[in-house]
Amino acid sequence: MEVSFSKELEQLRQGAGSTFHGEGILAITKALLQSGVAYVGGYQGAPVSHLLDVLVQAEDHLAELGVHVEACSNEASAAAMLGASIHYPLRGAVTWKSVVGTNVAADALSNLASPGVRGGALIIIGDDYGEGASVVQERTYAFAMKSSLLLIDPRPDLELMVRMVEEGFALSEASNTAAFVQLRIRACHVRGSFVCKDNIAPAVSRRALMSDPAAFDYSRLTHAPSIFEHEKIKTAERLPAARRHILERGLNELFAGSREDIGIIVQGGLYNALIGALQQFGLADAFGASTLPILNLNVTYPLVPEQIAGFCRGKQAVLVVEEGQPEFIEQDVALTLHRHGLATAVHGKDVLPMAGEYSVEAIARGLAPFLTRRAPDLDLGPGLHWLGELDARRGAVAAALESGLGRPLPARPPGFCTGCPERPVFAAVKLAQQRVGKVHIAADIGCHSFATFEPFSLGHTILGFGMSLASRAGVSPMIEGRTLAIMGDGGFWHNGLLTGVESALYNGDDAVLVILKNGYTSATGTQEIISSPDEEVKAAAPNKQQSLVDRNVTIEKTLRGIGVRWLRTVDSYRVDTMRKTLEEAFTTPFAGLKVIIAEGECQLERQRRSKPWVAGRLKRGERVERVKYGVDEDVCSGDHSCIRLSGCPTLTLKDSPDPLKPDPVATVIDGCVGCGLCGENAHAATLCPSFYRGEVVQNPGPAERFLHRLRQAVIRMLQPAGE
Ligand code: SF4
Ligand code: SF4
Repeated sequence: MEVSFSKELEQLRQGAGSTFHGEGILAITKALLQSGVAYVGGYQGAPVSHLLDVLVQAEDHLAELGVHVEACSNEASAAAMLGASIHYPLRGAVTWKSVVGTNVAADALSNLASPGVRGGALIIIGDDYGEGASVVQERTYAFAMKSSLLLIDPRPDLELMVRMVEEGFALSEASNTAAFVQLRIRACHVRGSFVCKDNIAPAVSRRALMSDPAAFDYSRLTHAPSIFEHEKIKTAERLPAARRHILERGLNELFAGSREDIGIIVQGGLYNALIGALQQFGLADAFGASTLPILNLNVTYPLVPEQIAGFCRGKQAVLVVEEGQPEFIEQDVALTLHRHGLATAVHGKDVLPMAGEYSVEAIARGLAPFLTRRAPDLDLGPGLHWLGELDARRGAVAAALESGLGRPLPARPPGFCTGCPERPVFAAVKLAQQRVGKVHIAADIGCHSFATFEPFSLGHTILGFGMSLASRAGVSPMIEGRTLAIMGDGGFWHNGLLTGVESALYNGDDAVLVILKNGYTSATGTQEIISSPDEEVKAAAPNKQQSLVDRNVTIEKTLRGIGVRWLRTVDSYRVDTMRKTLEEAFTTPFAGLKVIIAEGECQLERQRRSKPWVAGRLKRGERVERVKYGVDEDVCSGDHSCIRLSGCPTLTLKDSPDPLKPDPVATVIDGCVGCGLCGENAHAATLCPSFYRGEVVQNPGPAERFLHRLRQAVIRMLQPAGE
């Protein structure tokens, strides 16, 4: 990863009394160090990648404190790391994106939840739910419930979030239970400040080693019969201890309002959105003072029945604001009230959406019917007017687009970066299918999943990170042609090697696997993996297109070592070679697993490295050459087959200058990074010969300047007068 976090590293070092300003996720990172965390691990994923990225670069400071940081190969290994807290008084934290990461970690988490922990254990999860989410929409709440793990969902306010990390460790220790700390996208990126404390060097650490392992204790093992006892302890001791601690430490917040007859119970992470919605009705101010009393749940599992009943007592109705389905909290609240003999009516999903993100607007649309029914004396005019204005604006925009474009605004899905090495591979897949026929394509998680969008529209299923090869195992025996699985190198190391390759080899499957080896886990922020380019490779060619990503051929050696016999490595940008290799894989008589490694460095990483290198050379007045492709508009036939084969954002259209050619012609705009795909596609697909390759030279030498002037003179001589 070429991104430098030097500013963030400085913030992590801040001492007692200084003020931290910044984003929520970095505040959480600082809170871990202030809490005496001894070890941190995790697997990157939005919106929590920053936590691990920053800590990995904070090597020196963590060494001073004795804190260990581990970039884990997947969420399962991160969760298993928390095993250190089962016996030892070590505070540990791991992080990943949920719900998918929690699914991957499920086995270790269950086996952690059963014996419980001695040292505080936190699982910081990026809850990728709702707007901007990139994973399946499920709730981590279900996992916390079924494993009896704690779920902290802090109000997005830096001071409170930092407090909840410190309190979270204490809560975990008081109840011998690991705790999720759920951070929505908005909480990760909320900005604010808090007054720092000193970072705490843990009592046991890399600098203060334990002299002996823990004594043998069978009850700490998840093994029958001790698991039967664990299950009883969870409900008889640990959850009650957690509930007591939540009350004693005031972890949930009660915001009193002027009204007594109705109230709102909200997940902490939604508090800001709730206040935003109440403001529209004139029922809250910008500082959060609300007319309606609010019970803000910074710990959403377990709920504390006495607290819920106490809040609801004397109220005719409460509204439970709970994102996602099913309505676990609402059901719990209703049951609690029933058991306490309270007649308070419970509203929630009857007025709020069952699924989807709870934005300010979504909550306001739920508040309107709740308040109309339960507080008819309130003037809801301002809120209803605001909602009406939103509807009117949306209608006006849709109508304007309809009349201007004649259709709704087309969707703008994300796509590969300009010059991405994965784009040419999918161009080759498209071309290969023209010869071998359509194939079933098992897609995967990663940047390459952009190939499921136009202009490629390739891929039938996505079953999880690194799961593509495994996901075609039921299709291969049922279909005439061979199936194709696509996997990135990040996915290969995360899961694909074992769930896919090992299984396919063991079962003697006849299938084709393409591994896109770009050198990083790119989609989550280009984190390094075991097969990332080493420093020598990067330094040798800071401005060159890297086809050699891993000098140690780690993936190739691993595949050969486990028994892959048909293996080819192809430069990603060589479209025609890739097309031929794919065709060979689909037609060869060899009936086992065929693996093609498409090798080409992630363009984003290359650009990050080359930009300062180029800037340095320009500053020193040294020669810099940049390749750029272009389209000769006189030759372009206007059929746009190049665009259908590329999808590069810098290969686009412009009006034809020729009145006899009414269709727009292709053109390459300024962002072209000269990856060469345009030339490769033109060659591999035998497109019209309109593409040319140019070299833009900055700070040319005297010979080049002379040659340039000579060429210009010759061109002028050859041009008819007047042109
Ligand atoms: S981040 Fe890298 S691999 Fe991902 S789309 Fe961009 S260039 Fe391609
Ligand atoms: S050569 Fe073509 S595909 Fe590559 S960056 Fe330039 S316009 Fe895009």
